[in-house]
Amino acid sequence: MSRPQTGTTSGKTRRVYTTHELRPPTPTARSRQRPNQARPPGAALSRRIAVVGAGLAGVTTAYELAALGAQVQVFERGGSVAEQASFACSALLSPAVPALSTDLPSAPLRFRLRRWRARGKAGDASAQLAALSQLSLARTAALRQELGLEDEASQGLLLALPDAKRVAAVEVRLEAWKAMGLNVDLIEAGEARLREPGLNPDAPLAAALAVAGGGAGNARLFAQQLRQQARRLGVTFRFHTTVRGLSSDGTGVTLRHDYTPPAEAPTRGTEREPGDTLPQAPGMQDERFDAIVLCNGLGAVALAGQRLPLAALQEVTVTAPLRLLEAHPDLGPKAAWVDPARGLTITRIGQRVRVTGGLAVTGVQHRQPPATADYETLHRGLQHWFPGSVLHQQVQQGISRRAVAPDGLPLLGAGTQPGLWLNLSPGGSGWGQACGAAQALARQVMGESALLDLSALSPQRLA
Ligand SMILES: Cc1cc2nc3c(=O)[nH]c(=O)nc-3n(C[C@H](O)[C@H](O)[C@H](O)COP(=O)(O)OP(=O)(O)OC[C@H]3O[C@@H](n4cnc5c(N)ncnc54)[C@H](O)[C@@H]3O)c2cc1C
Repeated sequence: MSRPQTGTTSGKTRRVYTTHELRPPTPTARSRQRPNQARPPGAALSRRIAVVGAGLAGVTTAYELAALGAQVQVFERGGSVAEQASFACSALLSPAVPALSTDLPSAPLRFRLRRWRARGKAGDASAQLAALSQLSLARTAALRQELGLEDEASQGLLLALPDAKRVAAVEVRLEAWKAMGLNVDLIEAGEARLREPGLNPDAPLAAALAVAGGGAGNARLFAQQLRQQARRLGVTFRFHTTVRGLSSDGTGVTLRHDYTPPAEAPTRGTEREPGDTLPQAPGMQDERFDAIVLCNGLGAVALAGQRLPLAALQEVTVTAPLRLLEAHPDLGPKAAWVDPARGLTITRIGQRVRVTGGLAVTGVQHRQPPATADYETLHRGLQHWFPGSVLHQQVQQGISRRAVAPDGLPLLGAGTQPGLWLNLSPGGSGWGQACGAAQALARQVMGESALLDLSALSPQRLA
């Protein structure tokens, strides 16, 4: 496999941009005609593609690109895959069910205004998102099966409808959801309790919405295993390498990256994982690729070269070991249980239970711990639905952030610079959409026929 050319700062003829100067040159008439377009058949095999970010989006995208014959390098500023949003994911794998997500509570005024304006233009997006999420669940299942991935998966997704008012709100939407191809069913409380026998018999429950195809899975474990499969296809991962800037000239994209290994990280001479992390010189380097896919969540705002009005969606997570009692084998959830009224998701991950909630929106740069880090509410919610189901030792608690666009939709498709592609901001269902988004985008990047119409999710809508 030929390695990408390294354009260093050694004073050769190619122009090198300073960090502040890394702006795309004005596109030439020729480059305007062919931004991000398909190459002629056959040319795809030699495409060198950089993926920025090694979360779920980056790992799945790298895998799909390599499966289509691209030479892929993944740049990740951390030391491994799935260390940020993909680490804390509440494990819910769900098709997108429009109008079911709880409204985002506290959000800065500017973001609320953007959201209000964006929703007016949403158009076909709900149907496209529903189709993408169906594709995604099918792709996740296919990868699990074909590659033997074991990510502590469990099948089953129920949404709690505790009173008649919530049942009525679901009833009026049921037919529209079915018309979108969603396999959803309103089931009686008794049936819900049969499917989730660990449910508190005293917790009021009028009915539940059963979402076929939904369930839970350990997103981080999935990403780690898919990374190994990607390596087999020749993908190389460059950890501790931060991408600082991009510039595109219509024939390729130059990526400026900075390798800053911690003292104990592999170095040129003593690589721990040969063939995985490419040896590289510490410090700033420029390197040229045919195309670049930004999969770096909140970090994309600084790199995309276009206005990306993203915000950070914060959520609080509690993970605790399941209490295993021979006399009470049904303790805890079997799969995924969502309580939209409390804004809680409760999932089974192997022998653990994860509860997530307390959504809040902040700015991308926000670094303070939120005032809403209310772990107690999560513990109370778990106790309400699945009492006594977890041990209170080895409980992990944390707050995580992921990118969200004002309309809550992913940014999937070509960026404004030629050769630049985005797979960003899947909001609250990034795990559920990761495999489908990666598969669909990889085909676009490689000039293959489209699997779905994803025009309503294009990043151009925010430009
Ligand atoms: C608390 C929580 C619960 C969630 N629950 C669910 C759920 O139940 N179901 C669901 O479907 N989704 C859920 N999600 C959403 C889902 O986890 C995310 O959408 C998904 O993990 C995002 O993946 P990503 O790869 O885009 O981002 P990340 O996992 O954040 O990966 C981005 C990577 O880019 C790297 N990076 C950033 N900038 C640079 C740079 N300049 N150079 C190099 N590397 C860079 C970062 O280090 C990071 O590793 C949840 C998210 C959170 C936070």
